[in-house]
Amino acid sequence: MIPLMRPLMDQKEVDAAARVILSGWITQGPEVAAFEKEFAAFVGAEHATAVSNCTTGLHLALLVAGVEAGDEVITVSHSYIATANAIRYCNAEPVFVDVDPLTHNMDPALVEAAITPKTKAILLVHQMGMPADLSALVAIARRHDLKVIEDAACAAGSEILWEGEWERIGRCRGDACVFSFHPRKVVSTGDGGMITTPHADWAAKFKALRQHGMSVPDTVRHGSAQVIFESHPVLGYNYRMTDIQAAVGREQLRRLPGMVERRREIADTYRKLFASAQWIGVPHEPAFARTNWQSYAVRLPDHVDQRAVMQAMLDAGIATRRGIMCAHREDGYRDSAHAPLPHSEWCQDRTIVLPLYPQMTQADIEEVAATLKKVTEPPA
Ligand SMILES: *Cc1c(COP(=O)(O)O)cnc(C)c1O
Repeated sequence: MIPLMRPLMDQKEVDAAARVILSGWITQGPEVAAFEKEFAAFVGAEHATAVSNCTTGLHLALLVAGVEAGDEVITVSHSYIATANAIRYCNAEPVFVDVDPLTHNMDPALVEAAITPKTKAILLVHQMGMPADLSALVAIARRHDLKVIEDAACAAGSEILWEGEWERIGRCRGDACVFSFHPRKVVSTGDGGMITTPHADWAAKFKALRQHGMSVPDTVRHGSAQVIFESHPVLGYNYRMTDIQAAVGREQLRRLPGMVERRREIADTYRKLFASAQWIGVPHEPAFARTNWQSYAVRLPDHVDQRAVMQAMLDAGIATRRGIMCAHREDGYRDSAHAPLPHSEWCQDRTIVLPLYPQMTQADIEEVAATLKKVTEPPA
């Protein structure tokens, strides 16, 4: 069986977790602080805050952006449902705009028409690791005095061209950028997330809100020679990452450049193998983007049925997934107001995601490509 994804971990992650377990400090502490520092340095951000997962990170980013009941946030429906849900957690409404069917990312040309007096922020997604058109979206947001939150759940290690220089997603040209360390993403801590921001005051709020709104972190109280009485001046949450997760994350971060390089090689191999099958639409990487290929989604030809292709692949021992979901087709969002979203729906219905992980062998890659070609071949 060739799975869709397999985390890359070995004795290094085991030793890191064991070190923390035996240290006497298990939850958020020195390892989380070190992971934040190393992650910020890696992406080139001023501030990083570790959280329990990307969804809780998005919630905090929207809260600190000032999103509250009655507000609107412009986002995409074509994303994992956590993107839209984070907006609802603030009692605000997502306003969905359509995507570019070649990149699966928010189409900047559609954003301005969706802005109303209630709009507070743009929540863009770097879908499947592919950088969205950040410069265009930040420019629109600045013109209309909106905050920009990046859902970079899948985009650790992806790069973008900003004013002529390559930089990593997370450098944060908007107001906050949020990553996921779920095992389906490129680096994993089991569950986990990270928020980067250029704003010192935002980072301070993230750090308080993730720990019940407490006035002093418990590491400070623990290390103090004076008795400290903490207070809880704001409504906070328990959105902490543990030191066990952070220690694993630090090892994963060291592997990240190598993992991205290998993922890019595999994607390139797929592209060459599909060159002889013009009916399969390979993913498009814009000139301003260098993706980490968290997912490799191909566009199917009109003459095949998506489910039948996926079943034929599964029968041949190859796992696939259908295109990224659309939140507006789910019960909780069916009644939300938005313009038609034909490209979002097309992407969900007419693409499938192929296996891609660093441990894949050349034979695995060739088998996936050959099988997909065979089961999608046009009738003679
Ligand atoms: C995976 C994912 C999330 C959720 O991440 P968690 O860490 O599981 O909370 C949010 N947005 C997108 C685009 C994702 O792919």
